[in-house]
Amino acid sequence: MNLCDLREIKQIMNMFHLSFRKELGQNFLTDRSVVEDIAYSASDDRESTVLEIGPGIGTLSWALCERYRRVVALEIDRGLIPVLGFTMGEYRNFSVVNEDVMKADLATLLQDAFAEGKVSVCANLPYYITTPILMKLLESGLPFENITIMIQKEVADRLCARAGKSEYGAITAVLAYYGVAESILTVPADRFVPAPKVDSTVVRIRLYKERPYKPRNEELLFRTIRAAFEQRRKTLSNALAAGLGVLSKEQLTDIIVSCGHRADIRGERLDIADFVALSDAIDRAMRGE
Ligand code: SAM
Repeated sequence: MNLCDLREIKQIMNMFHLSFRKELGQNFLTDRSVVEDIAYSASDDRESTVLEIGPGIGTLSWALCERYRRVVALEIDRGLIPVLGFTMGEYRNFSVVNEDVMKADLATLLQDAFAEGKVSVCANLPYYITTPILMKLLESGLPFENITIMIQKEVADRLCARAGKSEYGAITAVLAYYGVAESILTVPADRFVPAPKVDSTVVRIRLYKERPYKPRNEELLFRTIRAAFEQRRKTLSNALAAGLGVLSKEQLTDIIVSCGHRADIRGERLDIADFVALSDAIDRAMRGE
């Protein structure tokens, strides 16, 4: 069976009386070498377990099963579960749960896997829900080794941007708190069926085992980042005064300057280390220290 072959994909879909569900972001990969590259990037450790989100008809799943010890998949579309039984039946190291990743209890689902060794995430993500899925994985606090995801190129450019670049935004800074993102390869839209409107990029995030940043108040750090980018055209002091609503513009300007920045700096110039130092200084000022 070649799950990247357009004719075979259509035959399988017909056999199970299914059509591609656009609302679930069902764009299946048709390029075998891309599938193999993504699977290869997921982890350096073949003894890992891989969590796959949205296996579809198994296009990426088989390559993950060939390479890693175990693959646990979450697929929201009930209609695809019997398809996976057909396409993935020979792989004893594959299991799928029919569940929405946003509702899944990942800690329980992966409890054994974490007890046994390394766990990474690898997925060709449904584009309608890319950022919420990524945030759920990051905020879960689960010790994933890597998160390798195929996403819209435009979103990938944001995740991998450097401070000061136009693509740099709140999600870039937040992601940098958890790990290091790198772009692995870009995949043209015509390598999917049906073809999406935009090209895609595979991004690998290597999560920190021990985070180098230790903010005094994590929640305030994220609020500070969000406020800094909410009104991009404003100076950082104006954006924080409006977005945080806790200190005056003058107080915030003093804090920004005390952190070594110009008074009129904009948020997009600050990297994650700068944001941690800034939110610590804001926290101290709020507590009157
Ligand atoms: N892995 C296949 C591939 O690479 O060709 C399919 C990828 S397709 C872009 C996204 C898959 O995610 C679809 O199978 C879709 O049904 C599934 N999906 C969409 N929303 C989901 C959710 N909230 N939870 C789990 N799976 C979801």
